[in-house]
Amino acid sequence: MSYMEKLLIGTRNQGKVMEFGQLFHSVPYELVSLDDEEITIDVEETGSTFEENAILKAKGYSRYSGLLTLADDSGLEVDALGGRPGVRSARYGGDGLSDKARIELLLSELLNVPWELRNARFCCVIALVSPSGYETIAHGSLEGIIGTVPKGSNGFGYDPVFYLTGRSCTTAELSPCEKNKLSHRGQAANKVFSILNDGLLAT
Ligand code: IMP
Repeated sequence: MSYMEKLLIGTRNQGKVMEFGQLFHSVPYELVSLDDEEITIDVEETGSTFEENAILKAKGYSRYSGLLTLADDSGLEVDALGGRPGVRSARYGGDGLSDKARIELLLSELLNVPWELRNARFCCVIALVSPSGYETIAHGSLEGIIGTVPKGSNGFGYDPVFYLTGRSCTTAELSPCEKNKLSHRGQAANKVFSILNDGLLAT
């Protein structure tokens, strides 16, 4: 029987678990989520940058589980809002809000902002940490424009209002496969893919 080492995906966001599952489907590791491993602790995102939070989460969950662990921190930076919601994207407007309510809040803040000033980007930093102390990080970003009307039902978070630069569709209108080819998470994931695929990590 073949044995594959586990790779823990350190997130509770099911949208991300799904995207990482697709991005890393061919790596020689068994991808497991926090729920699969019945890990109920939450590593607090107390950092002020995507890098700090990604490392905090990957180290915290790796130390707790004893597994090779990948965690990302990602978010939406809107130029007209001085980079907000940024590292607070998941909690923007308060902890109890739905994705739909966060989108409504964002759109209300951009109500009088003209189309040409609605530039934004999705940013992602992935940290990969092994129990033996190996750590690396990778970055990705995707430029776009915040629309005025949500469109599409794929993806998660702010996807329905994130229009791709130079195209008339949102990331919520892309198939998971199309989104992964372009996305901030896909770009960062490609950079860690070869490390995982070579299977050369000393864990
Ligand atoms: P965190 O990385 O788990 O702290 O949360 C990132 C948050 O940024 C998500 O909950 C979404 O609100 C937003 N976000 C990050 N990546 C995406 C994406 O690909 N589509 C839509 N929203 C995203």
